[in-house]
Amino acid sequence: MFKRIRDWLDTRRVNKMGITASEWESAVADWPVMHRYQGAERDALRDMSLRFLVRKSIVSGGGFEFSDAMRLKIATMACVPILHLGLDWYRHWYTIILYEGDFIPNRPYRSDDGVVHSSSPVLSGEAWLRGPVILSWDSICNTGPHARHNRASNVVIHELAHKLDMLRDGANGAPPMHPDMSAGEWHDIFTAAWDRLINDQQHHRSLPIDDYALSSPAEFFAVCSEAFFEAPQTLHDNMPEVYRLLCQFYRQQAVGFAASV
Ligand SMILES: [Zn+2]
Repeated sequence: MFKRIRDWLDTRRVNKMGITASEWESAVADWPVMHRYQGAERDALRDMSLRFLVRKSIVSGGGFEFSDAMRLKIATMACVPILHLGLDWYRHWYTIILYEGDFIPNRPYRSDDGVVHSSSPVLSGEAWLRGPVILSWDSICNTGPHARHNRASNVVIHELAHKLDMLRDGANGAPPMHPDMSAGEWHDIFTAAWDRLINDQQHHRSLPIDDYALSSPAEFFAVCSEAFFEAPQTLHDNMPEVYRLLCQFYRQQAVGFAASV
């Protein structure tokens, strides 16, 4: 019942925004991933993106002035991973803070050697447990199959993958499993893929995904998710078992232009 009332309220607020289908189309036209979503699936993505915008606030970081078209593009990138999961997978958080460029969080941080520093390194994105997502527009523009160290990159998908991961036991590389999935299989396959990439790195072999993935299991899942949507064929060909599990998790076949599984 509550869901029906919320959907009705969302619909009213979406209608009040008055964003047309052609405005949405032009906002997302330069993102190649959109070719994968056609017909009813594309309509569903547009509808979800508008509902995303009425449930979440995109606010300025550092006085950055952004347009409705930019908000639409961010919302659409955010909704692609949950298109077949539902907006409730982004529950418990409400705000995206958007900076023009990379940003330095105003707080101490602890580096890998355990030293606490008074300022943090420059970031292109960040996701807080039950808190906001912080994004750099410059990094969003630098999206694609070869955008970061010649590997797939999409900072929106990366940070939102962290949000999905955080739904179960914090960010540890294991988001909630669907009933037809096995947490044990997920652990085994991701661990085997991690071990193989560590081995490849130690032997100076080229990795199919950005080596930032090897920072932690949480980063591994987030970077694999970027590759799943931005360079699916590469992920499919080089890490087929990880690709298969991400198909099951996201309930999408990203290779080719196929619709949902
Ligand atoms: Zn990350």
